Amino acid sequence: MLTNNQFIYLDNAATTKVNEEVLQIYNDISINRYANSSSIHFFGASIAREIDKAREDIKRLLNVNNHRVIFTSGATEANNLCIKGIAFKYKNRGKHIIVSQMEHPSVLETARQLEQQFGYEVTYLPTDEKGIISLKDLESSLRNDTILVSIIAVNNETGAINPISEIIKIIKRYPKAFFHVDVTQAIGKIDLPYNDIDAFSYSFHKIHGLKGGGALLLKNNITPLTLASGGGQEEGFRSGTLDSANIISSAKALEIAIKGMKNNYAHIKSLKDKLMEYLLNNQDLYEINSPEESSIYILNFSTLTKKASVVVEALSNHNIMVSSISACHSKKEKYSHVVSSYKKMNIAMNTIRVSFDASNALEEMDIFISILDKIIKEIKQ
Ligand code: PMP
Repeated sequence: MLTNNQFIYLDNAATTKVNEEVLQIYNDISINRYANSSSIHFFGASIAREIDKAREDIKRLLNVNNHRVIFTSGATEANNLCIKGIAFKYKNRGKHIIVSQMEHPSVLETARQLEQQFGYEVTYLPTDEKGIISLKDLESSLRNDTILVSIIAVNNETGAINPISEIIKIIKRYPKAFFHVDVTQAIGKIDLPYNDIDAFSYSFHKIHGLKGGGALLLKNNITPLTLASGGGQEEGFRSGTLDSANIISSAKALEIAIKGMKNNYAHIKSLKDKLMEYLLNNQDLYEINSPEESSIYILNFSTLTKKASVVVEALSNHNIMVSSISACHSKKEKYSHVVSSYKKMNIAMNTIRVSFDASNALEEMDIFISILDKIIKEIKQ
């Protein structure tokens, strides 16, 4: 089926292949225009101008007109800067924060740290049977001392989509509360009302940019406390020499992602539908965890008869790459905190995440499904 050097990559929510046009820009800057953007000579000044153009391009592509762009090393850092930076800066207004239980660890663990080490009060919104937050829960959790709400747009494990526009309307009634959204799995994939969101974070490598780069877009009236002090880059919010090649090439990655959104839709949906059909025809073997209305880019399901970690390893031995959350290196069992927030533990311990990209061919799905079917019926565990 697949020869030794052929593989099927269905782990695109973890990271994507760099786009060649993006890489060309990255290489050109790294080799030919490598000046430090803080240097005052013409070489530095011209790359600084290119970085500012990338900033403007990103804002234009996302239709935002009152946000600043703070470049970071990725969504993890952007989430930390936003959540800790706002919590520390605005603590005199209140010390209550709301996040959902379905956040990425870079939000969840940041909130936990503020709670456990800095005396903030955190409300963790549960997930309903559709795998998203409930607006009623949000409404009843908001208080006059709530300074920040952080809710993920598209969950990275299940593809569940939170109702961001409705959430904005509710939070608007609390003028002291800022709204942050982790849009890492949403940007370039679904439409969002970016201009109405106070702050949002993403990583370049999820949209065919390079790893180690990302951004926090923040409304101009919000000034988080600086976490990385130093030379004063990024208006002093995040010091450190800018990764000019990564930043400038990322504007192209975003442009390609946004332009491709509509064109790629039908193809990506057909990949997901094909796998869905197989899973639905074999409900004695699998349970689907992704909600019906989830992102077309992610399909999460659990194995009912075999350990997911064993299945994922067997798939890997066949040169097929997907993700599982149940691999345990320590003695302690691991499980998906996202799936466990709305499903039973045996399901949460055996999840498999398949994540698609426009470059995946429909024939790859046929091969994947036939190998998965063989594995699930033949392996012993
Ligand atoms: N948020 C979400 C939703 C993600 O999927 C990821 C990447 N898994 C991150 C944040 C963190 O991104 P990075 O590792 O690039 O900082």
